[in-house]
Amino acid sequence: MSDSNEKPRWHALDADEALQRLESVREGLDRDGVRERLERYGPNRLPDPERAGPLQRFLLQFHNVLIYILIVAGVGTALLGHWIDTWVIFGVVLINAIIGYIQEGKAEQALDAIRQMLSPKALVVRDGQRRTIPAEDLVPGDVVILKAGDKVPADLRLFKAHNLRIDEAVLTGESVAVDKQTEAAEENAGLGDRASMAFSGTLVAYGQGRGVVVGTGADTEIGRISTMLGEVESLTTPLLAQIAQFGRWLSVAIVLLAGFTFVFGYWVRDYALVETFLAAVSLAVAAIPEGLPAIMTITLAIGVQRMAGRNAIIRRLPAVETLGSVTTICSDKTGTLTRNEMTVKSIVTAEHEFEVSGVGYAPEGHFASDGEKVAVDDQPVLAEALRGILLCNDAEVYRSDGRWVMEGDPTEGALVTAAVKGGLDQKELNRNLSRIDVIPFESTYKFMATLHHDERGEGVIYLKGAPERVLAVCDKERTPDGDRPLERERWEKWMETIAARGQRLLAVAAKDAAADKSQLEFPDIEDGGLTLLAVCGIIDPPRDEAIRAVAECQQAGIRVKMITGDHGVTARAIADELGIETASGVVTGHELEEISDDDLKRQVHDVDVFARTTPEHKLRLVKAIQADRHVVAMTGDGVNDAPALKRADVGVAMGIKGTEASKEASEMVLADDNFASIAAAVEEGRTVYDNLKKAILFILPTNGGQAFTIVAAILLGLTLPLTPVQVLWVNMVTAVTLALALAFEPTERDVMRRAPRPPNTPILSPFLLWRIGFVSLLLVAGTFGHFLWMLQHTDDIDLARTVAINTLVVGQVFYLFNSRYIVQSVLNREGFFGSRAVLIAIGILVVLQTLFTYAPPVQFLFGTTGIGLEEWGRILLFGVALLLIVEFEKALLRNRGLARNG
Ligand code: ADP
Ligand code: MG
Repeated sequence: MSDSNEKPRWHALDADEALQRLESVREGLDRDGVRERLERYGPNRLPDPERAGPLQRFLLQFHNVLIYILIVAGVGTALLGHWIDTWVIFGVVLINAIIGYIQEGKAEQALDAIRQMLSPKALVVRDGQRRTIPAEDLVPGDVVILKAGDKVPADLRLFKAHNLRIDEAVLTGESVAVDKQTEAAEENAGLGDRASMAFSGTLVAYGQGRGVVVGTGADTEIGRISTMLGEVESLTTPLLAQIAQFGRWLSVAIVLLAGFTFVFGYWVRDYALVETFLAAVSLAVAAIPEGLPAIMTITLAIGVQRMAGRNAIIRRLPAVETLGSVTTICSDKTGTLTRNEMTVKSIVTAEHEFEVSGVGYAPEGHFASDGEKVAVDDQPVLAEALRGILLCNDAEVYRSDGRWVMEGDPTEGALVTAAVKGGLDQKELNRNLSRIDVIPFESTYKFMATLHHDERGEGVIYLKGAPERVLAVCDKERTPDGDRPLERERWEKWMETIAARGQRLLAVAAKDAAADKSQLEFPDIEDGGLTLLAVCGIIDPPRDEAIRAVAECQQAGIRVKMITGDHGVTARAIADELGIETASGVVTGHELEEISDDDLKRQVHDVDVFARTTPEHKLRLVKAIQADRHVVAMTGDGVNDAPALKRADVGVAMGIKGTEASKEASEMVLADDNFASIAAAVEEGRTVYDNLKKAILFILPTNGGQAFTIVAAILLGLTLPLTPVQVLWVNMVTAVTLALALAFEPTERDVMRRAPRPPNTPILSPFLLWRIGFVSLLLVAGTFGHFLWMLQHTDDIDLARTVAINTLVVGQVFYLFNSRYIVQSVLNREGFFGSRAVLIAIGILVVLQTLFTYAPPVQFLFGTTGIGLEEWGRILLFGVALLLIVEFEKALLRNRGLARNG
């Protein structure tokens, strides 16, 4: 591209010069500047990936075996001079293609809309304040903050980098994360060597940084490589592929059978050439289940849409199927099972225990000791602890539209609120004790530390984190009269008490640092010598809907396991409230490290609560549970959770608090971070599977019934009961009306009371094959039987055929009711009137059949003729009989306890 002449080589510029050229500063743009730039540069969005154009997609509708057969048949009938048949055949082919095109388009639109729900966010500094905004709203000049797990939202020139490492595989194919820094890079450095840049679409693997946006939307490196964006997922899953494959084999077999019929009819039965040809074509058309793949796709798309409606966003379609066979759900505690609305309830110092009043992030409340309100100013140790938790903190609590909102990590938000309740001012404190360096919080090591300089230049380090970690590096405790040796046991006893109430524990400590110290490294903490200031107890109550969802999962034969970074005692108390099994105890991450893989396999069999775990443990846990032959869904949110999410059968990321890295690694994203949404997704997953089975159970007997009717006629040397165009008619109207209605079937009442479906069981189980064969025969008996009956009483072959067709169609209408529940009885109000889609479909079908039977132009095209009441009486009688016989079969199966899982 030639624009490289005009465009600055950002990576080779000094950071400040880059800022200057972009007319920006490190404190970010102001609101007006942003608005003006947004108009100038447009939204930070990549152009849609290229997909097959409408014409190509339309033509693809003609690419299947049945259409080829029909085209041959059309040409054949034309050669034989049967022009009406020719036109009807081509007409039907066209209509089919149009319907298929529209339905496929709808299904794709639905999925696109769902993908839109996953639009990424960016953390920016504007007007000197951090705000989370949609990544689309970024403009050149914006200052963006990066942290581990983020997806870089635009091309950035970095001006701050702390251990920053970025995985640029999408751009360079290099899977090892590269180190980033702020020095200008060589003028002619390749993409992979531009260490001063962070590129849109790459993932932050570690550390943190800040940079100024130099390019957005299509004007980014990733935007230039447009081929990489062609990541359009095809509308398929292993099961659908399996069915499509089955359909192709079936088609080939049917074509061979039709060929054989032709040979048999022509030479053995001495049919006329024309009639034999038409019979063979009829057979092929009758037997090939051409509507099936489309119905399956639509069923899937509807399922995905329903899941999205219940806050479970599917990223990879095969997950829809896997969800139905999940046997274990491993869930994070914080925010997923609990509300993540944290409040500090108690703070303990060496000599006092304080209660904090108020709930939520509104800093309205006070401190009390032994029931007496205390002034924080009179409590130097408490005041120091509050300073520590406020400084060693990235969250912010502020008023917006009269409401208190929290920006950042909820644990930290709760600490900010507590400090503000104590009368501290976050901005002022940060000004007086400016932050020089930071080690950000990571679940792996469970603490955060910051280095500050006061006005006189004296340094101080604050550390906050899991008490075990903090206590391990402290040797003193602070009192109003100075530091004294740490009394470990007293603290531990107290922590035990607080944790038993289900509260989250967090300790804060401090250490002086030299005035010239400007970098904070792990040894600064790990070498010890810190003074413990206080321990905080934070409540985070379980979500009510999570309690219900856990019970629901357990009823559905799904084990729920809780994996948390919190203290074992806290974890147990919360697990008890949630109804998660704690009888076999709680295993800690520390214990996990000690035991062998075999022992671990035994442990995961019994234990449901894992505490003080790190993301690395999760991977081992998933593997062990899978080795115990479970299908595992696993939640995660951090960058380090990615391997476990990938390994799990269904990786579940958090939509709100989850990192982009975790979302990329998972199959499903929860829009509300709520455990209940996983249970809902399982329920919908099971429903989709049910509905796919129902579609198969409904469509295949239709084809079977038609095909066997024709075969029977040929074997007996009779006139064909159905002509090719009539068969086409039946297939078309039943596929677009009746079968489609099943895709909308609501969840069966007992889905969450069944055991999970064993994975890898073929969908065409022996039971399904039996039902398909059984109903096919019933339809043959009715259709062919009625046709024979008519031949006994009339010479009008058109009349006999019209009656036969209506018998078949009405049989299907009644069978549609049967198909609503696979083994449950439909002989009740809900069974007949419970689905609007079914009633509408039948209404449409009645209109179509009436036209087919009585409207002269249609009669002319399809060779039909009006039929009398007496015939209708027999037809309805057959329909009712069919319905009752199938219900009887279900009752027998239910009584024998067969077909539980179909
Ligand atoms: P979980 O998400 O399962 O609760 P985490 O790994 O987030 O587990 O947290 C484990 C522990 O780390 C918490 O109990 C708390 O003591 C500490 N912790 C959590 N968040 C922070 C933070 N932002 N800064 C310091 N320590 C934290
Ligand atoms: Mg956490």
